[in-house]
Amino acid sequence: MIDDRIRTQIATNWQAVKDEVARAASECGRAPDDISIVGVSKYVAADCTLALVDAGCTRLGESRPQSLWQKAESPGNWTGVQWHLIGHLQTNKIRRLIKYQPIIHSVDSRRLLECIANESIAQKLTTSVLLEVNISGDPSKTGLSPDAALSLLEHRPSSGVNVIGLMAMAGWGTDADESRRQFELMRQLRDDWQHRLPFDLSELSMGMSGDYREAIASGATIVRIGSRLFEGVRE
Ligand SMILES: *Cc1c(COP(=O)(O)O)cnc(C)c1O
Repeated sequence: MIDDRIRTQIATNWQAVKDEVARAASECGRAPDDISIVGVSKYVAADCTLALVDAGCTRLGESRPQSLWQKAESPGNWTGVQWHLIGHLQTNKIRRLIKYQPIIHSVDSRRLLECIANESIAQKLTTSVLLEVNISGDPSKTGLSPDAALSLLEHRPSSGVNVIGLMAMAGWGTDADESRRQFELMRQLRDDWQHRLPFDLSELSMGMSGDYREAIASGATIVRIGSRLFEGVRE
């Protein structure tokens, strides 16, 4: 059980993040409602995650598939939660994961996309996914190269998956200007690819606690915010 202080802190943080995201949107002439906030709950246990849901955050992001299903299967009212998987996914975890109908942000290979499609078809589901693109140019970072991402978009599986957008992370240790440059690049690639593709590629998942302002200014439609939500909770 968590105490009232923590519960109040989480509610306060959630409201502050919502206000900050709305302000960042207005500052660049965007409607606050056009940006979805995924509360990244990977830092905390199920009780604190439920406190975040109670505060009004219904989109939850987890890095590890096991943590996602453990929370989804734990006692508590998770109805109305849209799960997001934002970290690496191994193919042997797909079966158990997709019955929770998460949006998967981290598709980084053709094989993974095909396995998600096949398993979704077997479970009579359609899974929404984003392709993770490596825009930092750093080969040690995860994600598809832009060329590989475009090729996968052009030759995606015809059923079982819905590719709804792209996910990107700025490289480590980048300053605000460099993050913004990378996010702008992602946005330009998306706009360019959208012209060539017969389906809607509207979601851009980019921006975390430290760089969501730059991401929103560059066109992010989904920001993934973790640490900022749990300030004063995790010590
Ligand atoms: C942990 C994580 C986040 C959240 O990062 P914070 O800096 O804590 O907001 C966002 N995206 C991914 C892929 C992550 O692994």
